[in-house]
Amino acid sequence: MNIVVLVKQVPDTYSERKLSSGDHTLDRDATDAVLDEIDERAVESALQLKEANEGSEVTVVAMGPDRTTDAIRKALSMGADKAVHLSDEALHGTDAIGTTIALATVIGTLEDVDLILAGNEASDGRTGAVPAMIAELLGLPALTHGRELTVEGSTVTVRRETDDGVTVLSAELPAVVSVNEKINEPRYPSFKGIMAAKKKPVTTLSLADAGIDAENVGLANAWTQVSEANPKPPKSGGEKVEDEGDGGSKIAAFLVGQKLI
Ligand SMILES: Cc1cc2nc3c(=O)[nH]c(=O)nc-3n(C[C@H](O)[C@H](O)[C@H](O)COP(=O)(O)OP(=O)(O)OC[C@H]3O[C@@H](n4cnc5c(N)ncnc54)[C@H](O)[C@@H]3O)c2cc1C
Repeated sequence: MNIVVLVKQVPDTYSERKLSSGDHTLDRDATDAVLDEIDERAVESALQLKEANEGSEVTVVAMGPDRTTDAIRKALSMGADKAVHLSDEALHGTDAIGTTIALATVIGTLEDVDLILAGNEASDGRTGAVPAMIAELLGLPALTHGRELTVEGSTVTVRRETDDGVTVLSAELPAVVSVNEKINEPRYPSFKGIMAAKKKPVTTLSLADAGIDAENVGLANAWTQVSEANPKPPKSGGEKVEDEGDGGSKIAAFLVGQKLI
């Protein structure tokens, strides 16, 4: 089975995220960057399928600036076999539709892809739209929000979990599957895995190399633009209640004042 995993490098949750004052895109240099945790889970799913299906190969595909190679190396050190990195200055500010067109084009250059795995929602953009749109563009079934994933023969089955409940979906391969945070616990790369990752092939493609029309990507071609952005006000210290025997009444009065009770 040839499995493609889409991985995105995102700002570390623990570092402060900033938008560039000029075009309101993410100031990637202002933050630490990591492989998105949801995509680590997608990689883990791919590796489990590879281990259960001898002869399978896992290819990581990432779109992002030069330093995305760190996220790619992490996926390779977990056990993925090879990677394709789409990197081009012209991709700056690309929206979810442009991202979809770009990633679908790259996937189209790979041979005999059986399964495309992705996270259900990136922790920075959070549109939760890319996997389903890729399926639409490639004419493949989309099985999204998966919390369990099995492949038997040429059939993929996903337990799809949303706020409404659990649905079981099946489709014939090739297909696109996105996973949620309950799907698994991703493995830590071993020392051996980290050393092996240094030698695994990473193909870097420009837009021209991948055959992507520059008219479909970039800030100028995004279907929506961020016109204004304001950071959230910093959290205040809250109200401290000193208990002098009347603590309960003071808390109740505070909650009434906030219309919480
Ligand atoms: C500061 C900021 C401003 C933005 N402004 C706009 C805007 O004005 N208009 C607009 O439409 N969008 C905007 N976006 C969204 C941005 O375009 C998206 O981050 C990007 O296009 C992909 O969408 P997503 O991250 O929401 O993906 P999702 O659909 O949430 O991602 C789901 C999964 O798709 C895969 N995936 C997504 N992106 C990649 C990638 N680059 N490489 C590999 N796999 C990937 C991963 O597996 C991921 O887990 C903005 C984002 C930020 C951070």
